[in-house]
Amino acid sequence: SYRKGGYHAVRIGDSFSGGRYIAQRKLGWGEFSTVWLAYDTRSSEYVALKIQKSAPQFAQAAVHEIEVLSAIADGDPSNSKYVVRLIDHFKHTGPNGQHSCMVLEFLGDSLLRLVKHIRYKGLELDKVREICKCILTGLDYLHRGLGIIHTDLKLENVLLLTTINATKDPIRSGTSPILERPEGIPNGGATMNIIEKKLKQRARRAAARISGRRASMGGVGGGAKTNRSLNGIDLRCKVVDFGNACWADKQFAQEIQTRQYRSPEVILQSGYSFSADMWSFACIAFELATGEMMFTPKGGQGFSEDEDHLAMMMELLGKIPRKIANGGARSKDYFDRYGDLKRIRRLKYGSLEKLLIDKYCFSEIDALEFAKFLCPLLDFEPENRPNAQQCLQHPWLSIKSLNQAEVKSESGMEKVNVGMRNLQMKAGK
Ligand code: ATP
Ligand code: MG
Ligand code: MG
Repeated sequence: SYRKGGYHAVRIGDSFSGGRYIAQRKLGWGEFSTVWLAYDTRSSEYVALKIQKSAPQFAQAAVHEIEVLSAIADGDPSNSKYVVRLIDHFKHTGPNGQHSCMVLEFLGDSLLRLVKHIRYKGLELDKVREICKCILTGLDYLHRGLGIIHTDLKLENVLLLTTINATKDPIRSGTSPILERPEGIPNGGATMNIIEKKLKQRARRAAARISGRRASMGGVGGGAKTNRSLNGIDLRCKVVDFGNACWADKQFAQEIQTRQYRSPEVILQSGYSFSADMWSFACIAFELATGEMMFTPKGGQGFSEDEDHLAMMMELLGKIPRKIANGGARSKDYFDRYGDLKRIRRLKYGSLEKLLIDKYCFSEIDALEFAKFLCPLLDFEPENRPNAQQCLQHPWLSIKSLNQAEVKSESGMEKVNVGMRNLQMKAGK
């Protein structure tokens, strides 16, 4: 991909925009771009420099992304809405062509890294709540404030404000600041292979949980997974990656969202709106709390990935009402006129609450409350789903875990006891 029309090769220390930004190290990459930590010599701050591939379709995509990001920044002057901020943009010409560059505020690790860090074990519910509040605040701003649908919400596209490994300085890890240790041109091919392998491993791990076609039900979670503490990590986060975002009244793609986070109306092609983001949001919340994706559909003999996906949704959430099942442009591909799947005939119905208890060892009360939060977001009728603002009012978000309260009151008791002992000692008893 480091050829004409592709990525721009960056060396540590390269300068951009007339010397204003100095490249420090690579932060990540995507299908469209490589993203670099850079030092902004004007503001004396670190920023994320997203350098787009140069071919016309990528340049066009960057124009769109910059338009969306500019609207986001203009509407939120105090930068308090939990959505990534665009600082600047410019063009940079290199051997592979002219590249659109976006300067974004520098953020930390993605939620995917966070979930990996705790070895796919699932976060404490208090932490899940903290993250949910940030994402919902961001979504409420995008949806109600701007009329923008993100369309690609997933763990990779939500970044923490901090890095997970707190002992490692995020700025200095990998290289000391400015120009000290040039690392040469990144080897795009090699990096990509490693990341592709990792993605495949992740998919395989997900697939391994599936016995036959049955993914969402049954199976035993976990095995011996060690605890890793998240103590002291500020779990605030921001929504990023607006390359696929659209205005609700100016949609261009019919197939949106990454497979596992895709809503039923998108699969059925019955039209989508802000509520499609709410479905993906529910998938994210589930994954944070359990460490596993809610749906990992796979095509098989005699049925497609889409059909497996619809089957899984029904097994977990109940039958899709016939009117909805038959209401999309693609309905006939999947459903008969009674609203039953044509090629997957026997479904094993379960419930979210039962899954949380049986597979993920939630207490009954935790499972009940979490399911009450999630299920309305997973309504097959998009119009019935609560919007982000309504969701922010949900009582589940204000629950304080009993565990934590108990731990606190226990340590409180301990102090009282120690105090009593000291008093008794002083009194010579
Ligand atoms: P995609 O194929 O996902 O659309 P893309 O080329 O549009 O990719 P992004 O997803 O925006 O690129 O960014 C690629 C990666 O760079 C992210 O996954 C993340 O690791 C890193 N990154 C992006 N923006 C930032 C930021 N503001 N701060 C820190 N890291 C970032
Ligand atoms: Mg991305
Ligand atoms: Mg993108």
